[in-house]
Amino acid sequence: MRAMTVRESIEAAFADVPYPGDDRIADHQNCLECEDVRGHFRGATWRGHTLPELRQYQDVLPLFTPEALQYFIPAYMLVSLDAWQEADLIPFSILNVCVAAGSGADAGSVRPGDGGFSVFTRPQRAALAAYLQEWVRSDAYALGAEDVPAAVERLLGRGPAG
Ligand SMILES: [Zn+2]
Repeated sequence: MRAMTVRESIEAAFADVPYPGDDRIADHQNCLECEDVRGHFRGATWRGHTLPELRQYQDVLPLFTPEALQYFIPAYMLVSLDAWQEADLIPFSILNVCVAAGSGADAGSVRPGDGGFSVFTRPQRAALAAYLQEWVRSDAYALGAEDVPAAVERLLGRGPAG
């Protein structure tokens, strides 16, 4: 029941996020990895992804623009939720999005994967916190253990960036 609640909270929190646009998926130009990310996610929604597919893109969250991060991160959360053993580094990558925000929260920072955190609304932060807490409860949880409590505190302690 708890997992259903987390899943529903993710779907509700991110339901209204607009597609970032074909030109706003990743900013890096003349970069093969970012070209691959743009090619893979162009025209995609955040629904209907599979775990094997996104596991191949588990390291690319820092390459997304803030708008693309906000749009696609629920896809990563939904495929890995309750599939922690197969999720590999997806939860850790999501944790890093939250941790990076706290350690680099200078005003005016807009670097993807860092200032990108500021795009998340309060319900989205709550969903991210619930996701990380669900991961902590799972047997598969290991890497990054010490960072989760601080990340959750940041997620729940801050309102939307203004
Ligand atoms: Zn790149």
